[in-house]
Amino acid sequence: MSGGLVFNETLYPGVEVNYGCDTILYQDRSEHQDLVLFENPVFGKVLMLDGITQVTTADEFIYHEMMAHVPILAHGAASEVLIVGGGDCGMAEEALKHPGIERLTQVEIDGAVVDFSKEHFAEFNAPVFEDERFDLVIADGARFVAETDRRFDVVMVDSTDPMGPGAVLFTQEFYRAVHRCLKPGGVLVTQNGVPFLQREELVGSIRHFSKIYKDAYAYVAAIPTYFGGHMALGWATDNADLRKVPVDELTRRFEAAGLDTRYYTPEVHAAAFALPRFILDAVKDGRSNAG
Ligand code: SAM
Repeated sequence: MSGGLVFNETLYPGVEVNYGCDTILYQDRSEHQDLVLFENPVFGKVLMLDGITQVTTADEFIYHEMMAHVPILAHGAASEVLIVGGGDCGMAEEALKHPGIERLTQVEIDGAVVDFSKEHFAEFNAPVFEDERFDLVIADGARFVAETDRRFDVVMVDSTDPMGPGAVLFTQEFYRAVHRCLKPGGVLVTQNGVPFLQREELVGSIRHFSKIYKDAYAYVAAIPTYFGGHMALGWATDNADLRKVPVDELTRRFEAAGLDTRYYTPEVHAAAFALPRFILDAVKDGRSNAG
C-alpha cells in the first residue's frame, strides 16, 4: 500500500474497520453528503458516503444480485420496478437484466452520486445508461412514494444507513407510502444492515412492516464489505406465498430470464429465507412489538 493511507469506517460503536488505500480517486462534498472513492487491494474501488462504505467493485455483485433477483423472480411477472436510493446504479443494472421489466424508475436524492458513479463504476453500471427503460428521478424517495400516482410490482430500497438523508427511509410513514404505491401482490425489499451489529435496525423495520403488510420477514446474504456476518434484507408484502416459491419454479423463471449470476442461484434464493436463529429472533421481536 502506498503511503500507508487508511480510511476508517466507524458505523458500529466499539468497532472500527480500516481500509488500506492505494490511491484516492475522488474526494468531495455534495449538497447532501461527503463522498470519497479510493482503491483498495482486496475490494477494488471503494465508495464511502459520510465515512460509511456503500459499494465496492469486488463484492457489489452479491448485494445487487440478491436484492434485485430475489424479489423479481419471487414475483414472477414484475414489469414496473422502483429503486429508492441506489445511486451507484448497480441495483438498476441487475434489475434491468430481466427482459420482463418494462420500466425501471430510480429515485435518488443525490444526483452527484449518480454522475460520479456513471464515470467511476462503468465496469458494472454502463448498460444502465443505454437502456431506454431506465427512468432516473433526482428527488427524496420518501417524498416520491408519498406523492406518485404510479404503481409498482417491486420496490427496492437501496439506501444508506438510517442517518442523514437515509433516516426517513426507515420510518413507518415511508413503508406505508410504499405500500400505497405497490400493485396488489407487490413486494418491498430493503437493506437492513448486519443484525449481529445492527439488530435494532432490523427489529425496527419489521415492527413497522408488521403494522402495514401481511407478511413481514427478512432474508440474508453474506457480503464481505458489510462487515459482521449476514446482512439482513427486509421483505414486506401482502402475498405470503412469494417467499415460498419452490426451487424448480424459481429455476424455470431464472432460465427464462436468461440470467447469468455469480452469487444468486435459485437454491441460494430459497435458502436465504432460512434465518439463523438470532436473526429469526430479531424478526419475531419486531413482529411481537408491532402492537
Ligand atoms: N448498498 C449500499 C449500502 O447498503 O451501504 C447503499 C448504496 S446506495 C449508494 C445508497 C444511496 O441512497 C445513496 O446514493 C444516497 O444518496 C441514497 N439516499 C439516501 N437517502 C435517500 C433518500 N431519502 N431518497 C433517495 N435516495 C437516498
